[in-house]
Amino acid sequence: MGKIPAEEQSADAATVKTATGALSSAPAASTRVVHAVCSHDCPDSCGVLVTVETKTGEAGSGRAVKVQGDPAHPVTRGFLCGKVAKYLDRVYSPERLLHPMRRRSGVDKGPVPPGQEAEVFEQITWDEALELIAGRLTAVAAEFGPESVLPYSYAGTIGQLGYGSMDRRFFHRLGASQLERTICASAGGTALLSVYGIKLGTAPEDFAQAGLVIAWGANIHGNNIHLWPFIEEARRKGARLIVIDPYRTRTAALADEHLAIHPGTDTALALAMMHVILREGLEDKAYISEATHGFEELRAHALKPEHAPAAAAAVTGIDADTIVRLARAYANVMRETGRPAVIRMNYGIQRSENGGTAARAVCMLPLLTGAWKHPGGGLQLSTSGSFPFNSEALQRPELMLASPLKRPARVVNMTELGQALTTLGDKQEDEPPVKALFVYNSNPAAVAPNQNDVLRGLRRADLFTVVHEQFFTDTADYADVLLPAPTFLETKDVQGAYGHLFVQLSQQAIAPLGEARSNVALFGELGQRMGFKEECFKDTVDDLIDQALDTRNHWFSGIDREQLEREGHVGLRLPVDAEGRVLPFSTAAWFRTPSGRGELTPVPVFRAPTESRANAGVYPLEFLPRKADNYMNTTFANHPGHQRMEARTAGVLEMHEEDAKVRGVASGDLVEVFNARGRLRLKALVDGRVRPGVVAARMDWSKLGGDLSGAGANVNALTSERLTDIGGGATFYSTLVEVRKTAVEVRKAAAE
Ligand code: SF4
Repeated sequence: MGKIPAEEQSADAATVKTATGALSSAPAASTRVVHAVCSHDCPDSCGVLVTVETKTGEAGSGRAVKVQGDPAHPVTRGFLCGKVAKYLDRVYSPERLLHPMRRRSGVDKGPVPPGQEAEVFEQITWDEALELIAGRLTAVAAEFGPESVLPYSYAGTIGQLGYGSMDRRFFHRLGASQLERTICASAGGTALLSVYGIKLGTAPEDFAQAGLVIAWGANIHGNNIHLWPFIEEARRKGARLIVIDPYRTRTAALADEHLAIHPGTDTALALAMMHVILREGLEDKAYISEATHGFEELRAHALKPEHAPAAAAAVTGIDADTIVRLARAYANVMRETGRPAVIRMNYGIQRSENGGTAARAVCMLPLLTGAWKHPGGGLQLSTSGSFPFNSEALQRPELMLASPLKRPARVVNMTELGQALTTLGDKQEDEPPVKALFVYNSNPAAVAPNQNDVLRGLRRADLFTVVHEQFFTDTADYADVLLPAPTFLETKDVQGAYGHLFVQLSQQAIAPLGEARSNVALFGELGQRMGFKEECFKDTVDDLIDQALDTRNHWFSGIDREQLEREGHVGLRLPVDAEGRVLPFSTAAWFRTPSGRGELTPVPVFRAPTESRANAGVYPLEFLPRKADNYMNTTFANHPGHQRMEARTAGVLEMHEEDAKVRGVASGDLVEVFNARGRLRLKALVDGRVRPGVVAARMDWSKLGGDLSGAGANVNALTSERLTDIGGGATFYSTLVEVRKTAVEVRKAAAE
């Protein structure tokens, strides 16, 4: 636990003596350092030290002049990623949305070119904005039922209060539709729970003790950078890093070996590894007997001929010898080096149609080898379940019973937003259509799949849309009312992590810029404006933090707000073994499954995605709609400094030379990428980062170059709303397309 350089360590020089000894009233800087926590959607949840300078006589709480990683945080270790190292560019960007605004009368919804926002929106007061929103939501609820109001939010902030507290209370009390938050991680999360019963894994610090690290669908260098030093430490001691990923990421390029698997075939590879391990008797029989359930069934399944390496090679594109070598290396490393294998699986693996099963299959591998018994062994997908925040107290689901519905509201899957906005209510008399959409912590016009249907819905003149945002995003272009949101420097929150095991308190470093208001302030005030009498709508931020920490779970034992305010971060009180080590799943006592063991059934079955090379027809190429290393989904995509770091892939379709050649395409040519759902115009880049049969483009703001023709699209014009096999997640990486060189006229249009 670190002691934070807190406000009491300020170097206050507000008044100074002059040469004559008189006290000068000239402005002087008072500097303080505040402990905050990066709340962006990233496993690292970094401790951030914010240096704030206040001039004498200056109103407000001063200006942040520096952000740095907290050196006392055991995982942050004093550095920030490239995205947030430039964070003050974002906080003080001249493009920040700083005041409530409403759409000018008669202006249609649709893309607004940067710089032309004032022609579309006019500034109003918060009072006017709240009155307008309360009036419209009340009217919509009265006419169509409260479920015709749909909240749409995800992890634009992952602080407990910002992610889900007063907002949920508000929508529950209103009786609005519930949103199933599936767009990113639900298939993998469901998979992890089905095998282990809890979202927990190997601590990042322990990776330094591994003898083999497998990064499976995990671009660690791009979006989990604080794990990287621990992997490098392990490599210095002789560990190997193997990356399994269809795209040659930065991490893959730095690895000892890159296995470029065909998209969506991870289940087949994991089963083939099991086949080799079990065929050669490399499993840990004692551990399996003590800590797992369903082994014999899995064994019989994995040893079937269709899971032999040769068969898997045909499916995965990884040759049989390599699969055998990989399986042996994985299972034998402890015996051979005295150090175990660890898998860093990330959510890329589960964004395909068979993705939930794939995540389950990979989760089972350390249960066969017993890697969990050893420091540095095991697997990490998410550690979020180890933080026992009291979400019931924060979100108050029972308020739905006080709504006009007097029952839990219907659930709408966010991955199916396009359908929700365009077809919901068409078929059943008693199914209300969506008539009001309240977007916060997200940018669905850019990030939701099947973009053309999403935009068709957002364009509806009869849809009342509120967007709470920091910038004029693609989604803001469709708002009726825009509300200014703060950055994490401007709010106080409490936060766990999904990539480490420290709970942290994020202090408010500076006053909200302009008229920005936090989610807590916005929804508390709106609730009162709507006439909700429950006292919980008046809870303060500190009340909410206390409620979040108020749990009987002993992993939070003794951790309270005062301690977090004092120390910044505190490690969870996890069980330790006789030697004082935290070794998750080293014994059966750790599992929270119904069987109380690591669950190996139902056995994972590989099914080729509907949109994959196995089922290719008129659209033969597998499309990877990638996330940029230096953006966070679409966050940061509008900052020139971040754009420069991503210049290589701006407006680009990456292709293999075989696929380019048969289509007469060369690097630099304008191409059209298309399927039945939509089309994009991009510039071809034949660069060896994808294998034959795969093309890749990165997610971007539509209006900032997601499509070179300026049509206002991005990669999601091509993706579908088809759901994953389990967890109802998005299947971004199960998308088929075709590519053709564009006509000269189109090239001209795009250039203009
Ligand atoms: S985005 Fe991730 S790595 Fe970067 S500062 Fe935030 S938590 Fe740390």
